Amino acid sequence: MHWTNKQDQALRERAFRVIPGGMYGHLSAAMLPEGYPQFFKRGKGSRLWDYDDNEYIDYMCAWGPNLLGYGNPIIAEAVRAQQEEGDVLNGPGEVLIEAAELFVSLVTHAAWAMFCKNGTDATTMAMVIARAHTGRRVILVADGAYHGSDPWCVPALASTGTLPEDRASIVYYKYNDPNSLAEAFKANKGEVAAVFATPFRHETFLDQEEPDLEYALTARRMCDDTGALLIIDEVRAGFRIARDCSWSTLGIQPDLSCWGKCFANGQPISAVLGSDHVRSAAGSIFVTGSFWFAAVPMAATVATLKIIRDTDYLERLINSGNVLRIGLEKQAATHGFAIKQSGPAQMPQILFQDDPGFQLGFAWVTECIKRGVYLHPYHNMFLSAAHTPEDIKHTLEVTDIAFSALKKNRAIGDGSPHLTDAAMK
Ligand code: PMP
Repeated sequence: MHWTNKQDQALRERAFRVIPGGMYGHLSAAMLPEGYPQFFKRGKGSRLWDYDDNEYIDYMCAWGPNLLGYGNPIIAEAVRAQQEEGDVLNGPGEVLIEAAELFVSLVTHAAWAMFCKNGTDATTMAMVIARAHTGRRVILVADGAYHGSDPWCVPALASTGTLPEDRASIVYYKYNDPNSLAEAFKANKGEVAAVFATPFRHETFLDQEEPDLEYALTARRMCDDTGALLIIDEVRAGFRIARDCSWSTLGIQPDLSCWGKCFANGQPISAVLGSDHVRSAAGSIFVTGSFWFAAVPMAATVATLKIIRDTDYLERLINSGNVLRIGLEKQAATHGFAIKQSGPAQMPQILFQDDPGFQLGFAWVTECIKRGVYLHPYHNMFLSAAHTPEDIKHTLEVTDIAFSALKKNRAIGDGSPHLTDAAMK
């Protein structure tokens, strides 16, 4: 494959004239190494194509939504059939109830569901429900955790245009630190409406951390003792850890859970699920949106949830992740690099040791991109059930060449690894 990014560059220039900054939000390629495509033409299964017709085995899965493969034929048929009937109408279809029934039957703590569009809608709605339920103000959030892009939760580094008042009742604690959580409860005695926790620690730029059992148990216990609600934000990890809430693997159930990204395999829909005792508070708030009750994403939800319930999709994506992880560990050692692969293998974060400026990481992923494997240098990645054993095998062939090139450049090196044309041949 002769790699080029000429078309992508041309599109970026056009976009720059009519889109602020040329692109915005989490899908902006501005902070990715040079050469990463910004625009994508097509996706099928585990593959993506950019406008230069480069084909990639994709390990970002649209940053989560692609769980079963781009254009999965079963979901595509459900979408087509519902589209023919109707999508945005004067009210929801029966499919709203069917989607809620299926969700509630899968997720142990849930007695009801409310649907919305994006993950941020779901986390914000959960916050409002918790305040309505408790009549309290304070929301405990793990410092550095991402819960969306509304002013109350947008990362500080992107918070231009927001006010300190937007976060006046948000109190931060340290993820995986039961003492810090207990102190936050103590300092806000009688005021805590809810604790937000992600299923594991999955912050950008950092190694991921599995949830510490003591921390998770403390969160559950302190909520029980004070009447606050435990909210698990499953938007990123949901259904890639379990066919239930992710903390069910620890034996812990939340009061509310927030879902998004993958449960309709890419159709735009998110949800809040709740336990029975929070039902009346959830019914008391006013939340809505012009597109929240669209039937097509709900039909995709029903089709996706059935596949989640009935197939071995989860075991397959975990297995693919493990094969990739073991292969990469061996390759890195053989080539003399120390990499840190953290978090669940099916949502891997891959960083190089002693690489604070990500130079090694950037150089390595760039070698991979130019050979048709789309990896991310500092954000957790996602596997899908569409990754085949052949995809993983081919990926490992590419990563092996990328490690070789990295070693060669380091040997030539001037301290910072860089790419040479020779390394591309
Ligand atoms: N919570 C978590 C844990 C997320 O990862 C995200 C999105 N990356 C969100 C909430 C917000 O979701 P959305 O971008 O769909 O609003």
